[in-house]
Parts: sequence; C-alpha cells; structure tokens
Amino acid sequence: MHLWIGTTNKGKLSELKLLFEKEVPGVVIHSLAELPSYVAPPENGQTFLDNARIKARSLKAMKPGEWVLAEDSGLEVKGLGNLPGIHSARYAGPKASDSENVAKLLKMMQIRAVADRTAQFTCQMVIFSPTGEEMVFQGEMKGSISKTVAGQLGFGYDPVFVPEGETQTLAQLGPGYKNQKSHRSAAARQFIAKLKSI
Ligand code: IMP
Repeated sequence: MHLWIGTTNKGKLSELKLLFEKEVPGVVIHSLAELPSYVAPPENGQTFLDNARIKARSLKAMKPGEWVLAEDSGLEVKGLGNLPGIHSARYAGPKASDSENVAKLLKMMQIRAVADRTAQFTCQMVIFSPTGEEMVFQGEMKGSISKTVAGQLGFGYDPVFVPEGETQTLAQLGPGYKNQKSHRSAAARQFIAKLKSI
C-alpha cells in the first residue's frame, strides 16, 4: 500500500511514518517532498475538519488513484478561550517558529493571569481511498500547560504540554509516548483498524 501524506510539518510526518510503518506491513509512505509542483492551498476553513479536508482534497487532485491522508491539528487552552486552536501553527505570526509560538502562549497566559491551564490537542484526519471514498477520523489528548518549557523531543507545543496523568511534558516523554497516546496516533489508529477490516 502506498500512502501519500499531505503535510510539510516534519514533526507530524515523522510521527505518522513511525506509526504506519510499525502497524501496516508493507506500507510505503510518500510526502509532499516528492511533489515539488504541489502548491499548498490556503487553510481558510473555520474548523480543524474544514482545513484537513482542504489539504486532503488538494493532494487527492494531484494523486487521484492513490491513498491520501491529511490532518489538521492544534492546541486549545481553556483559560485562553480555546486559543490558539486552528491558528496554532501561526499563533505568533504567519511565519512563526515553534519556539516563538510557545513563547507567545506562555506570555499570553501570564498577561491574562490564566488560572485554568487545562488544554487539549485535537486532530482531525481526512483520508481518501484510491476510489475516492472519504474517511474522517478524530483524536484528542487532554492535559495542561506547564509554566516553563521542558524537553528537547517532539515539535510545536510539546515542550509545554503535560498529558493528563503525567508529570513531564511531551517533549520529555518522547516519540514512543506520542506514538501510543497522542491525538494524531488516536486518529491514525482508527484508520488502521478500518484498513484491517476491509
Ligand atoms: P497545522 O499544520 O495547521 O495542522 O498546524 C498544527 C499546529 O498545531 C502545529 O504547527 C503545532 O504548532 C500544533 N500541534 C499540532 N499537533 C501537535 C503536537 O502533536 N505537538 C505539538 N504541537 C502540535
């Protein structure tokens, strides 16, 4: 099985590759790096699902007879009215780095004296089969935002996200942990279960 993944985010790609190569024997993962003429569509949807669909459809248009997967994900912090949400990748500006986004998040929580640090990651995943059937899967991971950054592993907000029941951040817990418990792995595992049933 060949599976095309529509992301330019190296962190997401490496997590999905690790999971699919472990769970789906013989899978060959392809990415946008193999499609130099691909132009990313504007992510102008109102929800994670809208944006995942926009990305999946544009990749499907280039690879019509293949399995394609795209996902949209982000962090919602309760005390910030569920921000940064669908703006997670661009929270500190259109070309913000992960560390700039994390710095802005901690700053906003300080400025607003946020007491409720409860947060969750959400992932909406849209997949098209080679015959064009659309499948949608969703995953979540609950936790809270730490007061300082900790850990070197992972990407995005991993250095400030402490999963429920843990004392360390995702960037300390590492890829093995995310592979089992993340919002992205939860969504991908539903797809893998579906694949095994057809
Ligand atoms: P997207 O590419 O528009 O879906 O952007 C998702 C953004 O949400 C990423 O750039 C990260 O900032 C954040 N994000 C999503 N999933 C994770 C994760 O597993 N760990 C840390 N940050 C994440």
